Amino acid sequence: MESLSGSLSNQARLSRCNKSIFPMNKKMYLLTVKSQINIYGGPNSASFYDMSEGCDCCGSGSVPVGPRYYNLNPDKLKKLNIFLTLDSDIIISKQLAMDIQMSGNTQLDEIFHIKTKERLPFYVLKPEKIMPRFSKDTTGYERENFCPKCGRDGHFFMPKVPLKLVYDERVDEGYNNVHVAATWELFGNSILRKPFDDSVFASPCFLVDEFIKNKIYEYAGRRVHFNDVSFA
Ligand SMILES: [Zn+2]
Repeated sequence: MESLSGSLSNQARLSRCNKSIFPMNKKMYLLTVKSQINIYGGPNSASFYDMSEGCDCCGSGSVPVGPRYYNLNPDKLKKLNIFLTLDSDIIISKQLAMDIQMSGNTQLDEIFHIKTKERLPFYVLKPEKIMPRFSKDTTGYERENFCPKCGRDGHFFMPKVPLKLVYDERVDEGYNNVHVAATWELFGNSILRKPFDDSVFASPCFLVDEFIKNKIYEYAGRRVHFNDVSFA
């Protein structure tokens, strides 16, 4: 009886694999942007937030819907092709955005000046897909005050210890077509407030494929750093 049930469960596993689960067949890299400028993003920048997938306790998982509004002065940012806001939104120059779109990635939000409503030559980089939860073998982070309901926020980087992302699940076939993905885990603490603009949302880490990595490096050089992501 024991071996029969074992063989059945193996068959079930195999049929699950044949259906839609594959090993990741391309390399992905954890993107670290080193330049940060002193402007707010997040809930301040979005005209609308889609909260349908968000946690109703902390707001994690809510998605800003473009266009976005920032207090950016393009004349002061001519040499920056990629940078973070205080809320860790990743902003890229129009030139870099055009090159990234060559990959087929169109997940970019247009940016307007928060006061003048003038169109600015920058875009917000957005993920095409959210990764599955990372493996317990991931190192270089700690947990603090995470939401008791969703547990997505409350991840923190450790000083001088690189985050080494490991995924032990075989991923859905769709991930192999993705150029820019975000971790399910969010870094920082999410706090849902009233008025909504005062809310703070923890942010994901971004994973990029080889094409996007090379494009970003071409424009940003030492202002960015990439770490390998492991798929066990
Ligand atoms: Zn939550």
